[in-house]
Amino acid sequence: MHLIWDEFLKIIKEEAGSQVVETWFKAVTLLEWDTTSRQVILKAPNPFVKNWIQQHYTQLLKTHLGRLLHADDLKIFILCNNQTVDEKIIPASVTHDNQLFVIEKKQAPKKITPTLTTNNMVNVGKSRSESSLTLMTLEKKEKAKTSSNLNPSYLFNNFIVGPSNSLAHAAACAVVNNLGKVYNPLFIYGGTGLGKTHLMHAIGNEVKHKNPKAIIRYETSDRFINEFINAIRLDRSLQFREKYQKVDLLLLDDIQFLSNKEQTQEMFFHIFNVLYEEQKQIILSSDTFPQEITGLQGRLKSRMEWGLVADIQFPDLETKTAILCKKAEQHRLTISEEVADYIASRVRSNIRELEGALIRVGAFASLINQPISLDLAKKVLLNLAEEPKKEGIILSTILKNVAKNYDVSINEIKSKKRFKDISIARAVAFFLMKKLSDCSLQAIGGFIGGRDHSTVIHAINKIEELMICDHAFKKKIEMIEQRILSE
Ligand code: ADP
Ligand code: MG
Repeated sequence: MHLIWDEFLKIIKEEAGSQVVETWFKAVTLLEWDTTSRQVILKAPNPFVKNWIQQHYTQLLKTHLGRLLHADDLKIFILCNNQTVDEKIIPASVTHDNQLFVIEKKQAPKKITPTLTTNNMVNVGKSRSESSLTLMTLEKKEKAKTSSNLNPSYLFNNFIVGPSNSLAHAAACAVVNNLGKVYNPLFIYGGTGLGKTHLMHAIGNEVKHKNPKAIIRYETSDRFINEFINAIRLDRSLQFREKYQKVDLLLLDDIQFLSNKEQTQEMFFHIFNVLYEEQKQIILSSDTFPQEITGLQGRLKSRMEWGLVADIQFPDLETKTAILCKKAEQHRLTISEEVADYIASRVRSNIRELEGALIRVGAFASLINQPISLDLAKKVLLNLAEEPKKEGIILSTILKNVAKNYDVSINEIKSKKRFKDISIARAVAFFLMKKLSDCSLQAIGGFIGGRDHSTVIHAINKIEELMICDHAFKKKIEMIEQRILSE
């Protein structure tokens, strides 16, 4: 049980972030797993943790524990306080729409106090039969989900579009409407926690919605590898291949994990070819662009560039704030714009951490039964490691400011165009990125349209020369720098 729970924590850390593990799952233990009734019994340290987990993480528990225990349709029960396994347990609580209801032990349905101090949340006690009905619907939903592995909560309508992800988002929309016909494969790359997985599930869910009969398969690459290894072990690699070759839409996440996995790459190569020839849509994601993935066969790298390669960059403050407001709505937390701005400014680059910070603030407000104020947010996030200013300067902020000051677009700076204004703006961006961030020249070049590091050095030298001989130019660069630093 220990081993399985540890494995589960690792997965949750990957998927939801270490803060979620630290705040909610660390203190929970896996008590029992009954194979016949497919019941999993967990123990939470207190009702608050129990309710929060039930409200927010039931899906995650079912998906990942289900996979680890090799069982579909898990029933998950969480005990707390002095409940013991021996007591006959009734499904403790399930979330349903905007209501939370709890039935504990064999007693009558019991109302609980609001878990979150929001104005519009109601807790309603429900009868047992109603609750099992709801449970059945939930299980049905779960079943529908596991057949394609899609997470139903990652959708287009809760994906916030900003300058950092507009290309990837537009490509995703185009793909949904022309499955297999445009941008095949679609390759999405970007840093961790920036929304690649969310966008992939959104595509899958939308396709499923439009065409319920479509065969869709979402897998992370490490699960793909494990499944393949198992298939070989059981002499079922043909079945493995057939299973993937019959899909209409294949979503393979974090493809960089295929690195150095020669046999899996070989298998993937064949699957890719068949799907591509049959105009079946392939969507891949990675943390870097294809050519940068080490340990990947050249023929795979080139195939990954056959369609469209779209990046997701660090979000700007405005996008982060919008994402926070959306997440707050989903978690039924009421936060003011002031608080959203504050949290967004504290977490600079990773949206998963942004959400973690929001949840911590929400949890704290709920514990002390107070609304979420700026003071409270400051108190809770006091210990959030301050990112050093230098690292925190985000490349996209620099790019945005330079583009604005030179009256050119971000896409023009990233393009191959050589008009004078665009070339200067590009060189200024290189110069400021080198000065204000800790990124390597290679990373900077990669960020601006995949240029190599000698191009970056050359441009930076040119700017340094200009700054010495042209005072007005120097002043302009300093002014842009100030703007970036004050953002
Ligand atoms: P990645 O796969 O790039 O590491 P994820 O897709 O797992 O990142 O995103 C991490 C978290 O951030 C998820 O909870 C996701 O819903 C959220 N997120 C990322 N980008 C957006 C966005 N543009 N709008 C709303 N939520 C987002
Ligand atoms: Mg991901």
